[in-house]
Amino acid sequence: MFGSDCERDPLTSPGRRAFLIFSGSMLAAVWAWRSPRAIHAAAGHQERQEVTIVQFSDAGQRLAKVRAPKVIKTEEEWRKQLPAGVFEITRHADTEIAFTGKYWNLHDRGLYRCICCENALFSSETKFESGTGWPSFWAPIAKENVHESTDLSLGVARTAVSCTQCDAHLGHVFDDGPPPTGLRYCMNSASLKFVKPMGTPI
Ligand SMILES: [Zn+2]
Repeated sequence: MFGSDCERDPLTSPGRRAFLIFSGSMLAAVWAWRSPRAIHAAAGHQERQEVTIVQFSDAGQRLAKVRAPKVIKTEEEWRKQLPAGVFEITRHADTEIAFTGKYWNLHDRGLYRCICCENALFSSETKFESGTGWPSFWAPIAKENVHESTDLSLGVARTAVSCTQCDAHLGHVFDDGPPPTGLRYCMNSASLKFVKPMGTPI
């Protein structure tokens, strides 16, 4: 019975095979038609790239979901803008030593923005004491404002977290956090800029 099922497998039928080859040719043709634009867009820093983020006031008030220009700078520009340690962490995915950052033990009410581009990232309302020596949150302030990717740099798969607007490396997210999400966003203080509700950075 299984044999007859296999024989009816559409992938092994000559007619189906011809159709697939034809479909593949069509896809290649469509790709060839589209690719000049795609390559052009990927090539240029001059090309305006946009991302969707949610804007927040320094008081933590959600303002609006907007399309904003992506912040794209050269290595040299970032190096000039940022202190050396911050540059290595945000632009080269380095990690600060535990218990050495500015914010692991900060419990004030306020907003954490991206040190590179000011994008709102975390609120003190989701910060918790993880005991790790890094500032830890159970959720970002808006899912649109952070980007997650797989990081295999230590030989195990981890989920890296970066800023949607400028690609700054922020830290990693793990699934051993507290309720309600069960997530632990383990961030580098160096990637963040804490802003009190009145808008005064510390
Ligand atoms: Zn940023």
